[in-house]
Amino acid sequence: MFARPLNVDLHCHSTISDGVLAPAEVAARAKKNGVDVWALTDHDEIRGIPEARAAANALGMRYITGVEISVTWAGRTIHIVGLNFDETYPELVQGLEATRSGRELRARDMAAELAKVGIEGAYEGALKYVGNPDLISRSHFARYIVETGECADINEVFKRYLGDGKPGFVPHRWATLAEAVGWISRAGGTAVIAHPGRYEFSPVAFDALFREFKALGGAGIEVVTGSHTVDQYSEYSRVATRYGFLSSRGSDFHGPHDSVVDLGKLPALAPMLKPVWEAWPELAQV
Ligand code: AMP
Ligand code: MN
Ligand code: MN
Ligand code: MN
Repeated sequence: MFARPLNVDLHCHSTISDGVLAPAEVAARAKKNGVDVWALTDHDEIRGIPEARAAANALGMRYITGVEISVTWAGRTIHIVGLNFDETYPELVQGLEATRSGRELRARDMAAELAKVGIEGAYEGALKYVGNPDLISRSHFARYIVETGECADINEVFKRYLGDGKPGFVPHRWATLAEAVGWISRAGGTAVIAHPGRYEFSPVAFDALFREFKALGGAGIEVVTGSHTVDQYSEYSRVATRYGFLSSRGSDFHGPHDSVVDLGKLPALAPMLKPVWEAWPELAQV
């Protein structure tokens, strides 16, 4: 008898950030899709954890605490996923609160910039999609702009209005890499670079990022994620091996109509990689 490989999904979002389902609904969908080990990783938020954990426990799914922290590195935004930490650790709780605090003002500035290019009422429009008033994000603006008929889908909104340097883009200073990795590590967790294939860095900048992350105590990178192409699965498998990183797997699910990949519906990690979850004693034997 061969055991079925664990279906592990360590990256997704709920209405606590920019997902469209409540934490318990995300848990139910993960379970329905065959996920065995699950983490909810809302942007800069851990207040979905109690509901997520209770739902996962009731469904008999292994639950791992998670968060996706917004970081400014070399003048660009990158995301660091934190996994398997103590969510009551004060420095983490306060650090995330500080990271969220600029979002309201940024949203008002974004609405003002969008008005200049003819998109009126974007602040109020985005708010209709917001589940957590402390976490207004570009995704909420994108859903409103699709609703107006100005763009056919969210991808087009980012290409034309909300991506880096586009008319509705407002530069923002998030946490530093040292802060994000430090909060996660000192809370007993594992820090992972989210979807590295999405960042438009030169090879030299990528090398600097990976080295600095590692020197700060960062342990892993996402290899198989809904944000990577199949070619990038191979590319980042090689990066994980070269830098000695643990590898993570996660859909980055935001909602049934908002995501390319559904919860748990991803290829397995290549066998030569060290999965991040095998470094956790409570899962090593599963
Ligand atoms: P924010 O944290 O407010 O800057 O919003 C970032 C979020 O916008 C990401 O987590 C994604 O959910 C979404 N996003 C960013 N770029 C794109 C894109 N090109 N297409 C679709 N969604 C995107
Ligand atoms: Mn998002
Ligand atoms: Mn992300
Ligand atoms: Mn994400």
